[in-house]
Amino acid sequence: MKPPSPLWQRSLLFRTVASIIAMTLLVGGLLVAGLSVLVKQKAEADAYRQLGELIDTVESTVRIACFVKDEQLAAEVARGLMRTREISAVRISDELQPLTYQERSPEPGRKMPLTVAPLEREVHSPFDERERVGSITLYPNKALIEERIVTSTLYIASQFGLLIAAVAAALTLTVYRLVMRPIARLSHGLHALDAESGAHLQPPRSHEHNLLGTLTADINALTARLVASLHDEQSLRRQREIDERKYRGIFENAESGIFVADGRCRMSSYNRSLARLAGLPPAAEQAAALALTDLPWAAPEHLPALIGRCLQDNLTVGDDFELMHPETGWCWLNITLTPVGPDLVQGIVSDVTERREAEIRARRLAITDPLTGLPNRSGFEQALLQQLKNQPEQEFTLLLLDLDGFRQINDALGFAVGDQVLVGMAARCLAALKPGDQVARLGGDDFAICLPGVSSSISAGKLAQRLKGQIAEPIRVADREHGLHASIGIARYPADGNTLPDLLRHAELALASAQSSGGNAWRLFEPSMAKAVEQRQQLASDLREAASRGELRLHYQPIVDLASHRVSSAECLLRWQHPTLGMIPPDRFIPLAEETGLIDEIGLWCLQTACQQLSKWDAGGLGLNLTVNVSARQIPTGLAPEAVLALLARHQLAPHRIGLEITESTLIGDRSAVETWIDTLRAAGCRIYLDDFGTGYSSLSYLKSLQLDTLKIDKAFVRDLDEASHDRVMVEAVTMMADSLQLSVVAEGIETPEQLAVLRQMGCRYGQGYLFSRPVPAEQLPEALVRINTHALAATI
Ligand code: C2E
Ligand code: MG
Ligand code: MG
Repeated sequence: MKPPSPLWQRSLLFRTVASIIAMTLLVGGLLVAGLSVLVKQKAEADAYRQLGELIDTVESTVRIACFVKDEQLAAEVARGLMRTREISAVRISDELQPLTYQERSPEPGRKMPLTVAPLEREVHSPFDERERVGSITLYPNKALIEERIVTSTLYIASQFGLLIAAVAAALTLTVYRLVMRPIARLSHGLHALDAESGAHLQPPRSHEHNLLGTLTADINALTARLVASLHDEQSLRRQREIDERKYRGIFENAESGIFVADGRCRMSSYNRSLARLAGLPPAAEQAAALALTDLPWAAPEHLPALIGRCLQDNLTVGDDFELMHPETGWCWLNITLTPVGPDLVQGIVSDVTERREAEIRARRLAITDPLTGLPNRSGFEQALLQQLKNQPEQEFTLLLLDLDGFRQINDALGFAVGDQVLVGMAARCLAALKPGDQVARLGGDDFAICLPGVSSSISAGKLAQRLKGQIAEPIRVADREHGLHASIGIARYPADGNTLPDLLRHAELALASAQSSGGNAWRLFEPSMAKAVEQRQQLASDLREAASRGELRLHYQPIVDLASHRVSSAECLLRWQHPTLGMIPPDRFIPLAEETGLIDEIGLWCLQTACQQLSKWDAGGLGLNLTVNVSARQIPTGLAPEAVLALLARHQLAPHRIGLEITESTLIGDRSAVETWIDTLRAAGCRIYLDDFGTGYSSLSYLKSLQLDTLKIDKAFVRDLDEASHDRVMVEAVTMMADSLQLSVVAEGIETPEQLAVLRQMGCRYGQGYLFSRPVPAEQLPEALVRINTHALAATI
């Protein structure tokens, strides 16, 4: 602590008065010094003036003394002059020599005064003013002059001293009264002031309108501002305390882990939850010793990068980190960082292990086929892409495998059996492969196999053959043996394609080629396959235009009542007269129309044309019914019962005039929808034929439950009827069964009289085939009818 200052330093009044006196003395001293110079000059001037006056009084006598060279007279004058104290020496000279020189001897104890400039005057003849006769020289008494100067100066100085004392006293009084005392009162008032209670300082009396009044007002304003700031500061502090307590509460009790760390990952604090989540010591005070990067993260180097990004971009950022918890093992923590100050971030940490595991499970599921546990299409493609990226030089062979006839198993025996078959086939594929080979289920009954390192067509073919053999082994599911075959398409990398899409497409083409050859086969990709597909695509695009260009035709083939030997109806069979390819049979373009969806449009055109033709024949008196083929794809919505009935109504045809031929494959789809379609049309009076009976997969019980009118036995069974064959037994059985179900039977493909005879013998009611007539254009049908009804048929019979 500093020692208290001496009183003279503390007393403002004392210092003020002292400085007034000092200043006055200084100024007075300078003035007195200046005045003493003036006094000296004046005293000297006075002395010379007096000497001049003395010379004037003795001048006439000196003139005479010099004129006559009277030394005595001169001495007499000099003595007279020496009586004057102002003169220290006198010299009177004629033109040639001094007449007298008299000098005052110095007073005892007093030094001889310094010689000062003498006053010399020429002396002229008393008779001729122009004649110089001598000179008189007076030496002033310097000591006397100095004495006078001192006396005068002292006098002035004493006068001045008195004046200064008086002025100083007056100033002191005035300063005390006008300045010191009001300031002292102000200061006292300020000390006693309780500014917080709103009290104001009063200006000193009679000083309301001067500087002190302004000062008082300024002090009051300043005090008011200070008080206001104080209040603000206090409320801010209180708010800060509340916030701090709140934050502390949140910090300590939050479910999430919270920490504060600097740019170098050093934590300055962390809460209990973080301690629990990360397995840290519970005391937050230890935080200072801990860096986040010291924790056992799986990838700790990402943390400084994340913190750096948060600080640099001044943004909230977050990521998941895997941590080895000392008690629970590996877990996933999400860290969200927010910048909270220069080089300071706050982190919120939550345990996201469950979410991460669910994501991993979901990711695994997304690339895995849940039924077989094999990779699915996405997983297989990802793996292959990865391989192409990482080892572009590694050759491999890609096989696409499809199970022939699997759909029938699925449809007939249910999905559960189908699933078991698929699982069994997946296991067989796996068993046939080496470690490192990959198998995937792309969907349905499609499998894909990748054979790394296999590039020769011979090795690929051998493996395909082995696989085919394995698949063909009967498989036992639900206490029944099932026989299946596989079709396999093969494409090799890089010989058959450089990219995955190319390879897959080419393997698919090879597979399609294997399937189209009847299945149970494998094919290596060949560029010509791509060409075939191209041609198919061209054909599909031509087909789109075919109906509008009038290239489609209907031919009609009579169906004969074998009992009455008369044509009972005719089947409408579609033909496509292609402008460059000529006549295209329906077997080539109907599947294409089904694939492209054009079958709906074409099917409707067929029905429409059939109705028109029937109306025409009706008008011409040709009593005939027609049947129209309906593709499985058209049922139930492509050719809705309402549309069929509306068409018939428009052409004023009774519904029984048109029979609709559906195939067994129709029955494989949505059964209840197909049944509704059949029931609706039959209820309206239409006849429903089951075409190509015996080639599909329909069971007897199935047949029983369906409301059909007629079965058409496929021509494949009629072909060998003349011999004692299985077909003959089968056709006979079908005929009998149809009879018991009250269904009519049409035998297709009757080409020989022998076949006809056997069929008639079996009691088959209707027949159709080249024996009666080939399918013919509409204009030729009446002639064919006449021929059948009369001569030709009669002759045959
Ligand atoms: P499908 O309905 O079974 O028609 C009978 C097929 O057998 C016809 O072949 C016919 O010409 C042929 N055929 C008739 N009698 C004999 C014979 O004595 N011997 C031999 N070898 N064949 C005979 P097409 O006209 O080539 O038709 C083939 C298939 O195309 C049809 O079989 C039918 O499934 C389909 N089809 C034809 N027209 C249409 C149509 O308008 N719509 C639909 N969805 N399919 C049609
Ligand atoms: Mg048919
Ligand atoms: Mg048929």
